[in-house]
Amino acid sequence: MSITVVGASNWDMFTYVDTMPRVGETIKGNDFKVSFGGKAANQVVQAALLGSKCTIITKLGDDVSGVNTLKNFKDKNINCDYISIVKDVPSGCATIIVDKKGDNNIIIVGGANDKLSVEDIENAKSQIQNSSLLLCQLEVSLDVTLKALQVAKESKCKTILNLTPINDKPIVLEMLTFTDILIVNEIELYGIYKSTFNSSDAKEDESDINELIKRGEQLISKYNKIENIIVTLGGKGQLLLCKEPKDNCHIELKEKVKVVDTTGAGDSFIGSLAHYLTKGSPMKQSIELASKVASISVTRHGTQSSYPSLSEIN
Ligand code: ADP
Repeated sequence: MSITVVGASNWDMFTYVDTMPRVGETIKGNDFKVSFGGKAANQVVQAALLGSKCTIITKLGDDVSGVNTLKNFKDKNINCDYISIVKDVPSGCATIIVDKKGDNNIIIVGGANDKLSVEDIENAKSQIQNSSLLLCQLEVSLDVTLKALQVAKESKCKTILNLTPINDKPIVLEMLTFTDILIVNEIELYGIYKSTFNSSDAKEDESDINELIKRGEQLISKYNKIENIIVTLGGKGQLLLCKEPKDNCHIELKEKVKVVDTTGAGDSFIGSLAHYLTKGSPMKQSIELASKVASISVTRHGTQSSYPSLSEIN
């Protein structure tokens, strides 16, 4: 029972300032932190922390952040056989400036992530096809994600697609024909609904649960491969939409927590969900367990550094 994750690894650099610098201005910052990021990297780390056998297919640059990222994966017992180092290219990175009001400016450089190719997926074909579950997001080239999903669907490997960052290109709609479980937040659900049904006049009300259920049901009817759509609703829990049997439900959070930082909570939820599903837990129970893990992560600062491990959950 193993999980393979395809996608981006990033090096996140946070600089904290009083106010944002203007063009041409040099200012003194108050603090600086670096952390591991990238959705694929976050999701695989969370699944591995819970004890799943995990592999990541990603690319790193030949720089200090690449070396540290590789060490981080190895420390978490993640299979690194399908990580390649690209010469003369930086590792993917995000420069994040946060001001006193909590507003931010973010610059993302794809770097080595942009070099992940369809050929890399072909080289990892047997790895994907021998896995129980493939996890993909939209942070690398879309043709790479599509290829990974196609390769998985030639085998018994189940596929989870996390439709983020939001993208409505036709190739994304094609991905849905190779997806078993689609995970979106309210905004991403609205985006994919609009581009699937060309309904630019759809009501943009992400808080109306009945409207979200209606949209999800229509998407499930349209894409017959999709068995489940999970809509993450932040502090309001999740919606589970099912093809068969049709036991759609709103899974509310079991307990209220003191929220400190929700960065990376979505990835904690998805990595945990992959873990519980491959362990054989039924979908609804897997969502409840994953939600518990993600709600611990929001009580602490940081992304991967806030993720709980198995011993803590137990
Ligand atoms: P995304 O970042 O993808 O929009 P969400 O914000 O919906 O994802 O968060 C994903 C999961 O993290 C939620 O389904 C929930 O389990 C947990 N979570 C997020 N925000 C909170 C919160 N305020 N309180 C408790 N859990 C939360």
